[in-house]
Amino acid sequence: MRLPVAGIPVRGRLVMLSPALDWAVEAVRVALEAPPSRLSGELLVMPPVKFGRVDVRAAVQTSAPRCCDRCGEDLELAVDTEVTLSFVPPDGEPADRGEVQVDEDLDFGIYEDGALDLGQVVLDAVGLAVPSRVACTNEVACEARTAALLGETRPAGPFAALRGPQ
Ligand SMILES: [Zn+2]
Repeated sequence: MRLPVAGIPVRGRLVMLSPALDWAVEAVRVALEAPPSRLSGELLVMPPVKFGRVDVRAAVQTSAPRCCDRCGEDLELAVDTEVTLSFVPPDGEPADRGEVQVDEDLDFGIYEDGALDLGQVVLDAVGLAVPSRVACTNEVACEARTAALLGETRPAGPFAALRGPQ
């Protein structure tokens, strides 16, 4: 969904997220690498300020069925995030950084043709909150399942000794 930034009121435009919005569901599916089983939250898109920068406060609650990266057990990967993201037009960055205060640590997204891609906003917000490694919350049970898996797959044939000490 592309939102033209020109018409956004001073107080911002509020977009409620729900499973009925195909573009939001698709963005979460990409971010969580699985179709979401629930989706709620909101985007508050502020009108453009200096150099066309648009700030979006994104609050997203969602989850999707995944497998544990360690033991392979089914789990529900849940994300509950609240983050402010900034987007600028391709030519929006000031050529002379001496003119304005630019925080070098800030990462700006890009919006083109005067419209913000809200799917990209959702994708960025959820993507930032996804852990690099998906694992069970119950570490003890996960540990036990992982050990059992390794025990079952450890080679016991005549070449086992060649593999060296485990
Ligand atoms: Zn696990």
